[in-house]
Amino acid sequence: MGKVILVGAGPGDPGLLTVKGREALAQADVVVYDRLVSPAILDLIPAKARRIDVGKNAGCHPVPQEEINRILLEEGSGNQVVVRLKGGDPFLFGRGGEELELLARHGVPFEEVPGITSAIAAPAYAGIPVTHRDFCSSLHIITGHRRAGEKLDIDFEALCRTKGTLVFLMGVSALPDICAGLLAAGMDGSTPAAVVERGTTPDQRRISATLEELPARAAAAEVRSPAVIVVGGVCALAEEFDWFDRLPLRGKQVVVTRPRERAGTLTGRLRALGAQVWEYPCIETIPLSPCPEMEEALGHLERYEWLALTSPAGAEFLWAALERMSLDARVLAGVRLAAIGPGTARALAGHGLKADLIPEVYDASHLGEALAAQAAGRVLLLRAREGSPALTQALERAKLEYNDVAIYETCYRNPRSQALREAVEEGRVDLVTFTSASTVKGFLATVGEGADLSRITGICIGEQTAAEARRSGIPVRVARSATLEALTECAVECARG
Ligand code: SAH
Repeated sequence: MGKVILVGAGPGDPGLLTVKGREALAQADVVVYDRLVSPAILDLIPAKARRIDVGKNAGCHPVPQEEINRILLEEGSGNQVVVRLKGGDPFLFGRGGEELELLARHGVPFEEVPGITSAIAAPAYAGIPVTHRDFCSSLHIITGHRRAGEKLDIDFEALCRTKGTLVFLMGVSALPDICAGLLAAGMDGSTPAAVVERGTTPDQRRISATLEELPARAAAAEVRSPAVIVVGGVCALAEEFDWFDRLPLRGKQVVVTRPRERAGTLTGRLRALGAQVWEYPCIETIPLSPCPEMEEALGHLERYEWLALTSPAGAEFLWAALERMSLDARVLAGVRLAAIGPGTARALAGHGLKADLIPEVYDASHLGEALAAQAAGRVLLLRAREGSPALTQALERAKLEYNDVAIYETCYRNPRSQALREAVEEGRVDLVTFTSASTVKGFLATVGEGADLSRITGICIGEQTAAEARRSGIPVRVARSATLEALTECAVECARG
């Protein structure tokens, strides 16, 4: 039996999707979503799931509610999990109730996963706590929506009597009328107020003013929907509390070039620091499968003293090969394991294996030197086809025997992007992260030949990567070590100037 799960996607910051909401998405067969759901959340929709966008149709008008209800009923009646994804919280001015009515009447099973509402989260990201004991003892959330040609249906006198914080949604076009209504009902013109536009996203703006002045200030700033209007003493705290605007990468546009499956953590870290992140996976790692050379080596591990891995991808592909061969971790018992850095070591640890060696500096030549210092027997290298020669050169200098087995290749698959090229040339991109020389090559292929790259800064892991970027005229900064922590630190230092 199928069901419909109504899920709140939160106000914009993808990190504000709930754990239960993410679990619902992971099991979805069909996802029906609205306009205000952020692209990063849509990226969580499983590839197998069907997506139905009801945020707009051909004429750019939203799909009418009756049509959405009909879609939910039809999809929900099948034997599948339908996730109905809505901005903020589904039940707060989200028509969630209306959608459930029809399902209830037809006996279609449903569940609801509440979401973080923009009514509370947008003010919070702008430094406005919606309640505070010194200022108020209630919070009121009001819709400022009115039908074309009709007046606002709001009891302003009653709202004034509450002395609580007032939050208006869908109120941008009615802002002058809302403020006039409150003033006419007797609210003090000097009451602190604010508009928070695109709250919790990198485009967030807060316009603070007194109730009297807010409409003119908002008009001058050309405030657009979606925005929340907040009225009440708590708005005075924003100057002191606006933590989001003070994040170190706030306002910075950052391009992440890692392969898609590995971009997530880096992107998450940069976003948490306030950056606007664009993922352009410039390279793709493709396992060579079948890979007879690796299988032959794995079948005769007793020939080797050391097995060395140079990337987390390598560790995963090794694992996939063992599984294909119906083997498990026990075949690695007699061989010592070397990892190029902590990321690769973590990938091994994920399978219950501890790296015996991690070089002090996380690059190919230092891995080679560390192996040269410790190894006496044969070394098995499982790595990319175009792996750095610095590793094998170090082994050769130490007269160590080795087998260099290519287990995956790196492809530059990204289509050329004129949009990225223009953003880079016009100075709309501040930083580009490069985690390997191949990501630099992939980036160059994406922006195309002859692009002016002087306005970006490349944040690089490793000297080899930096050298590759410099050769193409990209000003660079090199992270202190080859970890994502160091890379983000380097981005923050660069942003400080
Ligand atoms: N269910 C949603 C609200 C839907 S009504 C929720 O709980 O958030 C749509 C209104 O929500 C918009 O007109 C705007 O007032 C508000 N809104 C949604 N996202 C917003 C955001 N990121 N920043 C500010 N306001 C937002």
